[in-house]
Amino acid sequence: MELKNIRGIGDKTLILLKEKGITDIPSLIYTIPHSYVSYKLTDFDYYGEMNVPAVVIEEVRLQKLKTATKVSFRVSIEGVVFNVTAFNMVYLKNVLKIGSEIVIVGTYDNDFKTIIATKVFLKREYKEGVIPEYNIEGITNPHFQKIVLEALNSYTPRDNIIPTEYFNKYGYKSGRELILNIHNPKTIEEASEAIKTLKYYELLVFSLKISIIRKNIEEEKKEPKNPDLDMVKTFISSIPFELTDDQKSCVNDIYKEFKSTHPMNMLLEGDVGSGKTIVSVISSYAAYTAGYQTLIMAPTEALAYQHYETFNKYLSSFGVRVELLTSSTKDKDRKVILSYLKTNDINVIIGTHSLLNDEVIFNNLGFIVCDEQHKFGVEQRKIVREKGNKPDVLYMSATPIPRTLSLTIYGDMTLKTIHTMPSNRKRIITKIHTYKDYTDVLNFVKSEIDEGRQAYFVSPIIDENGSTDMTSVIRVKNDLETYFKGYRIGLLHGKLTSDEKEDILNKFKNGEIDILSSTTVIEVGINNPNASVMVIIDANNFGLSTLHQLRGRVGRGSDTGYCFLMINKIEAYDKLKILEETQDGFLISEEDLRLRGPGDFLGTEQSGKLKFRFADIFEDKYILNNALKDAKELMNNETVVSYYSKHLYSDNFD
Ligand code: ADP
Ligand code: MG
Repeated sequence: MELKNIRGIGDKTLILLKEKGITDIPSLIYTIPHSYVSYKLTDFDYYGEMNVPAVVIEEVRLQKLKTATKVSFRVSIEGVVFNVTAFNMVYLKNVLKIGSEIVIVGTYDNDFKTIIATKVFLKREYKEGVIPEYNIEGITNPHFQKIVLEALNSYTPRDNIIPTEYFNKYGYKSGRELILNIHNPKTIEEASEAIKTLKYYELLVFSLKISIIRKNIEEEKKEPKNPDLDMVKTFISSIPFELTDDQKSCVNDIYKEFKSTHPMNMLLEGDVGSGKTIVSVISSYAAYTAGYQTLIMAPTEALAYQHYETFNKYLSSFGVRVELLTSSTKDKDRKVILSYLKTNDINVIIGTHSLLNDEVIFNNLGFIVCDEQHKFGVEQRKIVREKGNKPDVLYMSATPIPRTLSLTIYGDMTLKTIHTMPSNRKRIITKIHTYKDYTDVLNFVKSEIDEGRQAYFVSPIIDENGSTDMTSVIRVKNDLETYFKGYRIGLLHGKLTSDEKEDILNKFKNGEIDILSSTTVIEVGINNPNASVMVIIDANNFGLSTLHQLRGRVGRGSDTGYCFLMINKIEAYDKLKILEETQDGFLISEEDLRLRGPGDFLGTEQSGKLKFRFADIFEDKYILNNALKDAKELMNNETVVSYYSKHLYSDNFD
């Protein structure tokens, strides 16, 4: 049956429903009320809320006020005349006639001698009991409820694939009774139980799907790799520093995963500067000793270039050939690289999105590293994976993901965390300032540079076009040139060509530039241990995690790092002060998540996976826990598993 055949749905209603994404009967039935109100007729009441029957005795008058339209009329209640005032219910003008029998929901205002009505019903439409409120634009709540109940007459909810005993154990209803309790509950409690049930159902299906995906991955087979342990040990002993315990444990786990018969799918989380790169360098070398090629994906050219330098520095003297491929690689070099990749004459290839190209074909790709993985989409990650034959994949991320989130988004990955920083890591002193202290900050920067250090200034935008009050990277550079006469100042932003960017970064690294005025292009992973000061302009325009990433650019060498967060409104202080207080990336990301919500925190692609129709993974944690527990048990139920294996990528409420 189609929507348009339901009694109560005319052409106009059909359009309004469509605007809300309601296009068929299931989507109508699973549109849940955002709240419920309980109605019961009362007598007239001077002091409290009432639901009082009345008769209209005078026509409705409208009066336009600045922010609202005042609607007033007069009624008789048990023979006594009262004024009634309502706001914005302009439609009452057409609905109420002299003599109309109505029910007024509202309170009496003794100062103005009027009833203030929050709802006005025609008496024949008023119903006592719990009424769902849907708030669908253009459709009244009683009308919407009526069409849902009509629809339910001609629709049988599909039998649950999940055995009803799972619902029963929480006292949850299922099937038609559940839907009726949503749209026509006898009590508020009944409605709230019904909504909990939907949340449970949704989270249970979601947990089941995650478990099935995980199981599929575990069942996937690959050729085990056989790295040469002695060679790897020799390589590790050539590294000029001692690995931290966490780094060692990661290297060990990756080694074990290489040797296993299942492809690795690991997410390595570690705060900025925790030393994830060297873990991937060692792993690439291990893959090399086993005869495999490695692909390193970086989100920006600057980072790809930096990785190229790092990998090359460590690996070239061990006979490993490392190359860089980005969109700015010259055509002639590109041809050579592509042909050497095919013949296994290149062992490690580092690059950006250009590695996704069809022409990039490997001889024996066995290991993939995806740095700053959240910058890549699911589709892109799939393309790289398919360039190898069941390759082992290591995703790296410097944005620690709070536990609840990682479970849901990365349920299909093995999670490893680097908690401890290399012991030589210096503290970063962070201070928030308004611009009246700007000169002090600049003087401090000068003293650092005079001691041979370097500084970053980061701005939120490239040019000023008048539409914002943010300070641009270009203006900052010009100001710095006035203040720092005789010093060398560089400019870096996303609109420069790759050659220009590379050139500036090289100069900054080689100490040919004292101050780099940049946008957030430096956010991801740029490493210059000699830089000791980070000044962030209009810091209130950035998220906490971004600021934390940015300040991680300093304090990487043997000197203390300094980070100054410049704000133009003092109110921003409260939001940012956690950065003065802690350097713990996990704490900061929890706070960031709390302030911004998962959508902004993760960006659209990933937060899409968190959009549940009914559940909220933060608020409904305990329902999620039940669902996870039950899903584990249900993995032994063949009917259930085989059904959801076929519906892995459809809506979770299916
Ligand atoms: P991130 O985790 O942010 O990618 P990097 O891998 O870039 O961090 O490491 C930051 C710096 O720390 C690099 O210069 C690296 O050589 C250095 N480093 C990494 N591990 C150690 C260690 N165990 N001891 C000392 N320095 C280290
Ligand atoms: Mg990094």
